[in-house]
This record gives sequence, C-alpha cells and structure tokens, in this order.
Amino acid sequence: MTEPSSSLKQTVRERARGCCEYCWSQEKFATQSFSIEHIYPLSKGGQTSLENLALACQGCNNYKYNKTKSKDPVNQELVSLYHPRQQQWQEHFAWNEDYTLIVGLTPTGRTTVTELRLNRSGLVNLRQILYAMGEHPPN
Ligand SMILES: [Zn+2]
Repeated sequence: MTEPSSSLKQTVRERARGCCEYCWSQEKFATQSFSIEHIYPLSKGGQTSLENLALACQGCNNYKYNKTKSKDPVNQELVSLYHPRQQQWQEHFAWNEDYTLIVGLTPTGRTTVTELRLNRSGLVNLRQILYAMGEHPPN
C-alpha cells in the first residue's frame, strides 16, 4: 500500500488540526490544499502508516521532497530533519517575539528551518496578518 486511504488521510488531518506540522500554517488560510506526507519517504522504505504520515503544506512538502537529513547551517554537519511523530515541535522550534518567524532551537530545528524554508516571505506576511486578526499562532 502506498497511497493512504481516505480514512487514514482524514485521521492525519484531524490529528494535525488542519495545520502544517512543520511551519504551522493553517489549511483554512491556504490557497492550496495540504498534502499527506510520508515523513520517511516511500522511496527509502517508509511505510504508509499513522506513525510515518504528517500533514504538510505544499511549500514544506515540496522543499522536504524525499529528504530526511540535511546539513546544519551552522557547522555543516549532517543532521536529521524534524520528525513530527518522534519529536516535539516546541523542543526544536520557537516563534520570535512577534510570531512571524520560526526560530530553530536545536541542530534539527535550525536545519529544518533552513531546508524547508519555514520563513518563506509569503508565510511571514500571512503570519503578520493572521496575528493581527487573532488567528495566529494556531492553538
Ligand atoms: Zn508548511
């Protein structure tokens, strides 16, 4: 089985509460529907199971592609990208003081911020507007 069933997709969507599990953008404010992403890619033997699936916006999904590791921007060491099922977002990332930028707190956090471009200009602009409307960050 490669493509998740519609019930599996629904479960992943509900578990993520409609937010991208990397950049925390909200599907209800996105122009493109989000993807059910294989955290560990199928091409590398990843399974289509709840423990290996995450909800991801199109930007994060495209930038992540089939990567599971990348070079730490600080010391160029190869580190694992953030794994939404095995790691806690808050341990690896934080918002800056006005909630427009995601800051990496750990090697995994900062490498994921860089590799998935979690502070893309469109996202930053949207966060600014949604924050002013009391819609960001999501609960
Ligand atoms: Zn995203």
